[in-house]
Amino acid sequence: MAHHPRWLETLALRCRCGNDIQLSSDGYICGCGRKAGAWDGAKAVIGSPIPYWGEIPQDQMRRLLDESERNGWRAAVQANLEPVLSEYVTTPDRAAFQEILPLSSGALVLDVGAGMGGIAAELARNYRVVAQEGVAERADFIALRAAQDGLSENLAVINGDVNSVEFAPGQFDAAIVSGVLEWVGLFDTSKGVKEVQVDFLRRLRGFLKPGGLIYVGIENRIGWAQLRGVPDHSGIPYTSLLPRFLATWVCRRNRNYRSSQNVTYRTYTYTHGGFLKIFAQAGLRARSTHISVRGYDYPTELVPLVEEAIVTYTLEHLNRPGGLKTRLLNRARLAAAKPWFWRTFGADFVFVLEAAGA
Ligand SMILES: [Zn+2]
Repeated sequence: MAHHPRWLETLALRCRCGNDIQLSSDGYICGCGRKAGAWDGAKAVIGSPIPYWGEIPQDQMRRLLDESERNGWRAAVQANLEPVLSEYVTTPDRAAFQEILPLSSGALVLDVGAGMGGIAAELARNYRVVAQEGVAERADFIALRAAQDGLSENLAVINGDVNSVEFAPGQFDAAIVSGVLEWVGLFDTSKGVKEVQVDFLRRLRGFLKPGGLIYVGIENRIGWAQLRGVPDHSGIPYTSLLPRFLATWVCRRNRNYRSSQNVTYRTYTYTHGGFLKIFAQAGLRARSTHISVRGYDYPTELVPLVEEAIVTYTLEHLNRPGGLKTRLLNRARLAAAKPWFWRTFGADFVFVLEAAGA
């Protein structure tokens, strides 16, 4: 039923031979003869999809797709998913970072690893969005929700692996990397984790127009959630706090370890300084940094790392007046309302990055 939006035809992939492949016809074939992919019903398929993985098992995902087609995606989500997950898929809050991402109204945005499409669909109300997602079922779900919400003109879905979809350079105004950078090391085990992450960011930088921005939402390696023992990406608490070789050792010996590449610890997060270092290695620098108090998945409360903003936020969120314990807690929180403290232990970071030479 759905055809691609007309503006998709202005975009191009970069073939291995160095030529550009315009996304103009239904088949994406290079002059060199290589077929990069094709438009398939409601989405573009580039290369081969990655094996299924997601928040729910594959058979449940297929049921969700069937029911979404019959009853509408919102009703299907509410009927089939746990409340927390249902909220995660439906809420507009996951794209609440738009106020710190300066984009013009016609901007072209790449949502990398778009998942169930929560962010891409919300952005498509204001911008033209390419939602790239490696898992076929999830890509189908994004296309379905876009069609049912009347967003197909602004949202094009590309089903292709994040490490292998190669766009021609200089086409996007922004790339959204929310909860993705920490995972890319799992999908390419041919080199070191940090190297995969830096290469991934460098490739994204190449896709951007001059002045283009990359939005990154990610956990602080030693944030207060991690110190409290919230499970890390390995499925085990505290692994991000360990030296990498110890985290690997723990993951090898723990049966809960949830990564499919159950060989080593490959989901690196970093401290604030560590992030700035890998950004610099990718030719990027932070234009702004915020702490997302509710975690990067819900960037509704973004506090810039500036003393005045941190103090204001803390004052507004002190515990209600109470006994001695409350007073002491409030006093401790005010004492900690300092940029260095939040930079070191803040929950999750959101960065807006630009090319370092800009
Ligand atoms: Zn070619």
